[in-house]
Amino acid sequence: MPETLRPRVLVVGGGLGGYVSAIRAAQLGLDTVLVEAGRLGGTCLVRGCIPSKALIHAADRFADMVGGETLGITLDQPPRLDLGKTIAWKDGIVDRLSSGVAGLLARAKVRVVAGWAIFSDAKSCTVETEAGPVAITADNVILAAGSEAAALPGLPFGGDVISSTEALSLAALPERLVVVGAGYIGLELGIAFRKFGTAVSVVEAADRILPRYDEALTRPVRRWLSRAGVELHLGAKVTGLDGDGRLAVETVAGPLALTADKILVAVGRRPLVEGWGIEEMALDRAGPFVKVDDQCKTAMRGVWAIGDLVGEPMLAHKALAQGAMVAEIIAGQRRHFDPAAVAAIVFTEPEIVVAGMLPDEAAAAGVDAAISVFPFAASGRAMTLEAGAGGGFVRIVSRRDDQRILGIQAVGRHVAELAGEFAHALAMGAVLEDLAHTIHVHPTLGEAVTEAALIGLGQPLHL
Ligand code: FAD
Ligand code: NAD
Repeated sequence: MPETLRPRVLVVGGGLGGYVSAIRAAQLGLDTVLVEAGRLGGTCLVRGCIPSKALIHAADRFADMVGGETLGITLDQPPRLDLGKTIAWKDGIVDRLSSGVAGLLARAKVRVVAGWAIFSDAKSCTVETEAGPVAITADNVILAAGSEAAALPGLPFGGDVISSTEALSLAALPERLVVVGAGYIGLELGIAFRKFGTAVSVVEAADRILPRYDEALTRPVRRWLSRAGVELHLGAKVTGLDGDGRLAVETVAGPLALTADKILVAVGRRPLVEGWGIEEMALDRAGPFVKVDDQCKTAMRGVWAIGDLVGEPMLAHKALAQGAMVAEIIAGQRRHFDPAAVAAIVFTEPEIVVAGMLPDEAAAAGVDAAISVFPFAASGRAMTLEAGAGGGFVRIVSRRDDQRILGIQAVGRHVAELAGEFAHALAMGAVLEDLAHTIHVHPTLGEAVTEAALIGLGQPLHL
């Protein structure tokens, strides 16, 4: 007879969404079990956000050593990269964070069951653990199974065709890398490898990079790619590998065959909805995702779903916010998932921050919006940080009638840390005056927010 657990809350998936919901549920006095088949921390911590940002940082350090001539910095010898050590350093960060999550769960008194959960009905699953099967039946189930890399038809993963997971743990630096997909992952990692010295080509189906964002916002990244010698094939379609192992690509100018020692396919992620018995749970679907309402309730009473499993944006902080919220709802609190904005950062060169509505989204929604742009070329701090190279700026989208802020975006080096201010302004329902009259520290990049707000009010100072 398998051991049977009967907790108030069962969480499936120990990624950011799952482990946060388990900690919060336990903090609120609910007996909680968390099932995780892999390492605690899930995609973000083990093979996503954290390892990619570690590699991007290492690549920045390397590129800074190579490219300091303008600032009067030269090296007698070119720097050398020991990728094995870089990966070991990255793995050390992952290890520390993953055991930190285990510690947090233990302190909150969450019982962790290691293994793959398979559901037989909406509230019951069995987990094959090293010590034998464990059956779990819970009053509430929080599904946080996450997502996996989407493969391309004709180009399955395996061998030299890799996803971001393999790209983050390569044994040797590829000489030639072809990246399929100029989205978040393709550009973040493609740029990092280029900085390490790899020859990089990018193949993108749309007619521009980062197609979910507008041309102005992505132009500085495009410029960097061009200056760095990254070969860009836009409006291009991959058809598979040819007989010589080259990547066959159809472009408007005709067919191409690209040689590479690694092909990184980064054409999006899809929710993990196979292999754990979802068909036994009577849940509704929204396309490939699990359908939920604004409290993350599924069609089945007492079954909740969060994070990448339930749709865009597939971002770690959204998963976290939904996880904490669901735990609080189960504990009896009144909560809804209705954020003013889920800000996003693309950690490219330069970085892009997007919070709230883009100008074309405001126009599409029929809002009469004012667009105010302050270029980093006019910011002293940006100059000292080389933050405006390639045409960086802060941009505010506001309603013309009441000056309420609908969106704030920025592109430039080091702008990532402005995301908090942007999200805060939107969450507080700020108007242009609030930002214009907040005294920002001099000299900081944040001053560009004041300046953009002043432009919106018709009172430009430094422009
Ligand atoms: P996941 O983190 O995917 O966790 C799901 C967990 O569930 C997994 O650990 C899996 O093993 C487990 N699981 C699934 N089914 C079962 C089962 N039946 N039994 C037991 N366990 C199960 N987002 C950002 O916001 N910022 C970034 O900088 C960023 N960078 C990224 C970089 C890369 C390369 C990638 C791939 C993603 C990145 N993301 C980033 C996205 C982010 O990782 C995801 O949005 C986030 O991990 C989603 O969290 P989650 O809890 O929904 O799912
Ligand atoms: P993405 O949606 O960001 O980009 C995929 C790109 O691939 C798009 O530009 C798309 O037009 C292109 N594409 C699709 N099919 C193609 C084809 N057949 N040939 C060529 N190009 C094709 O997806 P991603 O980069 O795989 O990232 C997945 C998700 O992970 C993101 O949407 C995001 O939610 C998350 N993520 C976030 C961060 C971050 O927050 N900084 C970083 C990495 C990943």
